[in-house]
Amino acid sequence: MELSTRRYDLHSHTTASDGMLLPAELVKRAVDNCVDVLAITDHDSTAGLEEARNTISQDKLPLILINGVEISTVWKNQGIHIVGLNIDPNHDHLQQLLRKQTEYRRERAQEIAAKLAGLGIVDSYQKAEQYAQGEIVSRAHFARYLVDLGIVKDINKAFKRYLGKGKPAYISPRWCSITEAVEAIHAAGGVAVLAHPTRYDLTATKLRKLLDEFKQIGGDAIEVSQSRQSRDELYMLAKYALQYEFLASQGSDFHSIGQYVDLGKVEPLTENVTPIWYNWSYERDSIRIEDT
Ligand code: AMP
Ligand code: MN
Ligand code: MN
Ligand code: MN
Repeated sequence: MELSTRRYDLHSHTTASDGMLLPAELVKRAVDNCVDVLAITDHDSTAGLEEARNTISQDKLPLILINGVEISTVWKNQGIHIVGLNIDPNHDHLQQLLRKQTEYRRERAQEIAAKLAGLGIVDSYQKAEQYAQGEIVSRAHFARYLVDLGIVKDINKAFKRYLGKGKPAYISPRWCSITEAVEAIHAAGGVAVLAHPTRYDLTATKLRKLLDEFKQIGGDAIEVSQSRQSRDELYMLAKYALQYEFLASQGSDFHSIGQYVDLGKVEPLTENVTPIWYNWSYERDSIRIEDT
């Protein structure tokens, strides 16, 4: 399919969830990294979008911002993330769901803190809230606290020893269902994308079951190109996109400046898939211009 050669990053986080950069900093970095189209997809929150959009217009940044969100869902007792792109962030149905999720995040944070207190790590709820600075509370905020206390060496270790699935401070998630997330995204005019399908540690059989159900529910796309990905994984996800007739998305899932992950740093999609942006209005416009 003949499309523009714009550089897309359709998955990123700001301080509105567990990212380290402010929305204003994130959009500037996207431009520095030659990203043309950026989606901000904070966990269960759209609070970073306004600042990002204002910065783009005030600083006249050459960047197209896609309104996004990454909704936490639970499927067979497993956390699954559904990205919504081109949503209306002010849509009532969507905001109602996000408010419920935010409220649940607070409850869950208290449960995590109680488990950590049982292990002798006190005050973690207050600290996580402080790290979150009034935005949604994430396990990543607890992880930062554990690192700063010197209990673990890095964030990854905090998940491996305390916060990850099956670890002593883990709580079985009670997020909304995939169906509720897809419905809210569609109600808000967006497209629903299964985020990072290979990052859930599912067996091949269970992953196909997830893809099957996501299709039946009305899911539109899956992420095919991600950061830190082998060629084999890229081809496998492209194959799934074709097989299940999903559009293909790509995104770095950027949270902070690190060694391997950066804004815009993803492999191009394979040519056999249909990019999720194939019918986005400015793509259609640029094809018309090129045609004439
Ligand atoms: P939550 O949405 O509160 O359950 O927190 C999950 C977030 O923690 C994810 O979005 C990641 O950003 C982060 N996370 C999960 N597992 C790890 C890990 N092993 N190492 C570093 N960050 C992680
Ligand atoms: Mn995260
Ligand atoms: Mn995710
Ligand atoms: Mn993410």
